[in-house]
Amino acid sequence: MAMFGNLSERLTATLANLRTKGKLSASDVDGTVREIRRALLEADVALPVVKEFTAQVRERALSDDVNRALNPAQQVVQIVNDELIAILGGEVRRLSFAKQPPTVIMLAGLQGTGKTTFAGKLAKRLLGEKHAPLLVAADLQRPNAVQQLQVVGEQAGVHVHAPEPGNGVGDPVRVAKDAVKFAREKLYDVVIIDTAGRLGVDADLMKQASNIRKATNPDEVLFVIDAMIGQDAVATANAFQEGVGFTGVVLSKLDSDARGGAALSVAKVTGQPIMFASTGERLDDLEVFHPDRMASRILD
Ligand code: GDP
Repeated sequence: MAMFGNLSERLTATLANLRTKGKLSASDVDGTVREIRRALLEADVALPVVKEFTAQVRERALSDDVNRALNPAQQVVQIVNDELIAILGGEVRRLSFAKQPPTVIMLAGLQGTGKTTFAGKLAKRLLGEKHAPLLVAADLQRPNAVQQLQVVGEQAGVHVHAPEPGNGVGDPVRVAKDAVKFAREKLYDVVIIDTAGRLGVDADLMKQASNIRKATNPDEVLFVIDAMIGQDAVATANAFQEGVGFTGVVLSKLDSDARGGAALSVAKVTGQPIMFASTGERLDDLEVFHPDRMASRILD
């Protein structure tokens, strides 16, 4: 994968080097951990995540079990793999659906991160899983946002609920609330609400998103983050966690050649799982996020 190219190369080279040794001395382990630390920092992984990751690897690699093992280096490779899976969230976390439909899924994130595109991707996927999704245009900030969602909805074959001219125009909270009512009446079982994003974290935007959340009581609030955001990932995610609160993360643009730090930091830093990965501009470019598969791709 382009995204983790450098990191992957660095880690595999470091671990391959370790494999040439039989028993591991403490200085072999320290040298390896130092290399891993450097590789992670260069990939823009957040410092607290790097620290915790390397501390765990070091502690486990220096344990007696590893030294007694037939192939200690192989054990260390396994430990690195396990710890990568752990920072990526451990288990796969799937959408949780409401007992009483409709399930409400609200999207939040900065502008340009891929929210609208993801809304279409998710709707299309749910349609394929025999759900009856409804898309809701509650991004009334950006000119054309409603129209863009309508285009996406048409491609996905999913109805888009948008404000009627003169009725609720300019009030995204009302649009979102009306949409949930509409879904209940028309038997749509999943409501996907696209919300406005600004270029930077912004108090009004947070308030608006927070009000939409209060008004619609979503089963999931998904924070969409662009893998290319780099070092800003942590501050942005924390701001959204505080201002709106979210239950899961969508990583978008995983097909880009970003260094991967955002992907590797955000689950750990926010305590919320990465649930989906968006891997391109087409509506089919969506994957359920598997921490173990991602770790294997990195260590491949
Ligand atoms: P929004 O402002 O958050 O709603 O973002 P959009 O959905 O409008 O996406 C912004 C731009 O990123 C558009 O040009 C999309 O085609 C593009 N985009 C969205 N998701 C992906 C992705 O996973 N990979 C790539 N390469 N581009 C994407």
